[in-house]
Amino acid sequence: MKDSYDVIVIGAGPAGMSAAGYAARAGHDVLLLDAAAPGGQLMFIDQIENYPGFESISGFALAVKMESQATSFGVEVEYGEVTSIKRSDGGFIVSTGDGDVLARAVILAMGARHRHLDVPGEEEYSGRGVSYCATCDGPFFKGRRVVVVGGGDTALTDAVYLSRLCSSVKVVHRRNEFRAQKAIQDKMRACSNIQTVTPHTVKEILGDGEKVTGVVLDDGSLIETDGIFIFTGILPNSQIVKDLVELDEAGFVRTDSMMRTSLEGVYAVGDLRTTPFRQVVTAAGDGAVAAHMADEYLNR
Ligand SMILES: Cc1cc2nc3c(=O)[nH]c(=O)nc-3n(C[C@H](O)[C@H](O)[C@H](O)COP(=O)(O)OP(=O)(O)OC[C@H]3O[C@@H](n4cnc5c(N)ncnc54)[C@H](O)[C@@H]3O)c2cc1C
Repeated sequence: MKDSYDVIVIGAGPAGMSAAGYAARAGHDVLLLDAAAPGGQLMFIDQIENYPGFESISGFALAVKMESQATSFGVEVEYGEVTSIKRSDGGFIVSTGDGDVLARAVILAMGARHRHLDVPGEEEYSGRGVSYCATCDGPFFKGRRVVVVGGGDTALTDAVYLSRLCSSVKVVHRRNEFRAQKAIQDKMRACSNIQTVTPHTVKEILGDGEKVTGVVLDDGSLIETDGIFIFTGILPNSQIVKDLVELDEAGFVRTDSMMRTSLEGVYAVGDLRTTPFRQVVTAAGDGAVAAHMADEYLNR
């Protein structure tokens, strides 16, 4: 690792790998830092069926391809958890446990994580019936029974989406009232195969060793199901930039359509930013736009 780079990309998920690759291909000196192995959330995806060019590919295999493509353009990939980013004369100081590195432009790609229920069976059956994304995994449950957990806009919108694919959808929510907008609640109630189960929480997810078979509620009752979709919130990994750039109420980084944050020379991409849709393809697209804007900024 050198002392300074044109561009430092923080986070090697699909957004960061795309941004780093585009920036390096434009002729810049690029460092891509990740606190864990490159891939980000791709590492939790069993099969991806909605990334263009691949009918089906495992998240791991796609991560390996993205990393090898980025390094082939000259990107330097290093392990390192970024602990702070500060402005300095003409650039930024990016600090990791191993020391400080200077950057003329920074692309933030730290992603987000789904809030978990933290109940027995959730981790064990993740990707084998437990899902946090209806667009990603809904098609795997065609004609089958699913449970949706949550009461906000995402939970009910995705329950309606799933009702078009699945034979039955049971929406489990801890209150009798839903937080989702009334229009979305009306849409959900108009679906004949959606049933609400309130006020209840999920206490355990059951399976046969291979896949999910049911969920146990707080009153001890059992719902037999083939899948459970958990929509209890998504948390951005924005802690280290909360005093650097503007965040929205939920903690996501605000950007314009060019991925520019409130601070010149700093861009944000992928799940980390305020955006209506969080997918691999949108993250990769954001990365391309941010690298393009960083290139223009550096050439000015
Ligand atoms: C189980 C599951 C299934 C999914 N299925 C699909 C699907 O089928 N299709 C689809 O399109 N999308 C799917 N998604 C969503 C998709 O994975 C995300 O939208 C996408 O990975 C977001 O990319 P990203 O690069 O913005 O962030 P992430 O993938 O979250 O990557 C962020 C990276 O930043 C790193 N990082 C965070 N903080 C720091 C720090 N301080 N310093 C250094 N590094 C840091 C993390 O280690 C991580 O590697 C799924 C997600 C999950 C969890």
